[in-house]
Amino acid sequence: MSHAHTHDHHEHGHSHAPEVSTQNERVVLTALVLTAGYMLVEVAGGLLSGSLALLADAGHMLTDAAALALAWAGFRIGRRAADARRTFGYMRMEVLAGLINALTLFALVAWILFEAIQRLRHPVEVLSGPMLVVAVIGLLVNIAVFAILHRGDRDHVNIRGAMLHVIGDMLGSVAAIAAAVTIRITGWMPIDPILSVLICLLILRAAWALLRSTFHILMEGAPPDIDIERLQAHLLEQVPGVAHVQHVHVWSITSGRVLATLELGLDAGTDQRQVVPAVKQALADRFGIGHTTVEVLFDPPRACALRAAAGPETEG
Ligand SMILES: [Zn+2]
Ligand SMILES: [Zn+2]
Ligand SMILES: [Zn+2]
Repeated sequence: MSHAHTHDHHEHGHSHAPEVSTQNERVVLTALVLTAGYMLVEVAGGLLSGSLALLADAGHMLTDAAALALAWAGFRIGRRAADARRTFGYMRMEVLAGLINALTLFALVAWILFEAIQRLRHPVEVLSGPMLVVAVIGLLVNIAVFAILHRGDRDHVNIRGAMLHVIGDMLGSVAAIAAAVTIRITGWMPIDPILSVLICLLILRAAWALLRSTFHILMEGAPPDIDIERLQAHLLEQVPGVAHVQHVHVWSITSGRVLATLELGLDAGTDQRQVVPAVKQALADRFGIGHTTVEVLFDPPRACALRAAAGPETEG
């Protein structure tokens, strides 16, 4: 399994991390090469034909290529263990790359929208022939990528997501073909900037989701599906001997790699050698937290230093 974090606390053996096979890695790499190659074709075709829609879609392909590159790097870097200097390994690279990708996309969308407005006011001649050729190539590339992904591990969350995405891309290619045919038959040029604006909306949606999730991880936010109060209640109910749970911090190194620290108070006469592993196991099973650090308190709990620094004394 893909856990880059190789030191041997037993709780690291959780199994919901996707299986990394060389098959998946090859599938992703092939899709990446095809996508990036088509992106270059689209840039060339866009410049040659004057089609803004093709350039906008090249931007969209840039996102797709970046996402595939990240998935591929995730497979490769995931194998690279943490070392003494980077005790969390290299998993955050993925998050930083995602943030840069999102910001790049916003800049790209701004440029396309600006250009589209210009062109709606002063239509630019688009050569429908090259545009049609490139759009048809795009449809073929998307069909090929879909077929390749289909051969990969379809239970893998990234591969399934990528397949759904490629279906959307096929529809985009069909729209581009329709626009090229429209220009060919009617000579109605505004269809090109209009289509580019529609592509921008798709890019914006992806960019916004990416920005939000990377920003949240960089803010050390708890994963959206983990509620701290429910986590505390779960431990109190499920682990015998736990008297109270406080000072809980939960965060992700990268999407799906969750860590926690917390303090426990125990019932009198409880053996911490049993409770501490039970707490770690309960968090791994119920919340998918693969790495928990537990401190057992024998004195009354004190406020979390992070909260106390920010305002009045409250119990973390
Ligand atoms: Zn796409
Ligand atoms: Zn560890
Ligand atoms: Zn704290």
